[in-house]
Amino acid sequence: MSRERWAVVLDFDGTITKNDVADSILNEFGGLTRRMINASYNPSVVTEEWVRSMFLRVNETPARLRRFVRETAEAREGFHGFIGRCRELGVAVEVVSGGLDLYLDLLLADWGHGHLPRYRASSRMTKKGLSVRYSYLKGATLDAFKRERVRVHQRSGRRVLFAGDGTSDIEAACAADAAFARSHLWRHMRKRGENVRQLRTFDGPRRLLERACSRS
Ligand SMILES: [Mg+2]
Repeated sequence: MSRERWAVVLDFDGTITKNDVADSILNEFGGLTRRMINASYNPSVVTEEWVRSMFLRVNETPARLRRFVRETAEAREGFHGFIGRCRELGVAVEVVSGGLDLYLDLLLADWGHGHLPRYRASSRMTKKGLSVRYSYLKGATLDAFKRERVRVHQRSGRRVLFAGDGTSDIEAACAADAAFARSHLWRHMRKRGENVRQLRTFDGPRRLLERACSRS
């Protein structure tokens, strides 16, 4: 019998990072209150449309935004070791995010994970503010796109571990073979009675894969 093959699909903001980087930028430079940000986690809000319209309120130089991100963003405990272990175990890892290249590419490169495949929005400063494009969605919603990335790996014969925190992660988490969740996603999954584990550090996902990959 061949060993179980696994893939990992990860949300970025609030999952890989301790805090939601997009929300922090909008709070600091877009004039959004925490209450307005929290309201965006209502499942009726289309995340990518919300992000697109809210980032138009941000009018700062990309250099200033990058400095803020480097000063404030932190990886969740255990993340770097988790990525290293996945490589040793032959587990494919990808990042599927509604966040922006501006900070996501920067942080992954700073942390030595610039090689990870990723889906994220592209951003460009314009006279009207920070303009955000979701070309990878090709008309799909972010929720459906994240779920589809889980399914792509499953169709290639891998089981999938998904980790996320937002309402746009619900469909992907439900489709995954193992789901780790925090915050809004955790509460929704629990309410729906879905099988889910709480994501505190990345030690939980690492242990699950170590066990699963040693099974034959
Ligand atoms: Mg998130």
